Amino acid sequence: MTHRVDDCIFCKIAAGELGTEFLVETPNVVAFNDISPQAPTHALVIPKRHIDSIRDLGEDDAALVGEMVQVANQVAKDRGVDESGYRLVTNSGKDSGQEVFHIHFHVLGGKKLGPIC
Ligand code: AMP
Ligand code: ZN
Repeated sequence: MTHRVDDCIFCKIAAGELGTEFLVETPNVVAFNDISPQAPTHALVIPKRHIDSIRDLGEDDAALVGEMVQVANQVAKDRGVDESGYRLVTNSGKDSGQEVFHIHFHVLGGKKLGPIC
């Protein structure tokens, strides 16, 4: 792991320290169920490497973001919501309501989702 933050809960999850079940794991990314699901399918997709949020992504992270989207699509397929529809959401900063400052994509599906905001 190239960058981890000691008090970051998602760094701990990515390192397997909390025993979290991974829905999908790739070399640089893991997906797991959200602890407080807002839809029948609510998974989080995170890089193993710590990055605070999308605003901290650099030019060199394009492949990593691609890997995250691929993992999100795989989760949707595995959960059987790829045909019915799903939403990929990421929060960045105070106004978005971001609570965990380790970049993550929410994968939401399995019900008719409401308006974006
Ligand atoms: P955000 O508001 O975009 O930062 O979303 C953070 C998400 O992380 C929320 O949906 C939480 O329910 C979820 N979450 C926080 N701690 C955990 C955890 N230990 N395991 C799984 N999901 C978590
Ligand atoms: Zn982290």
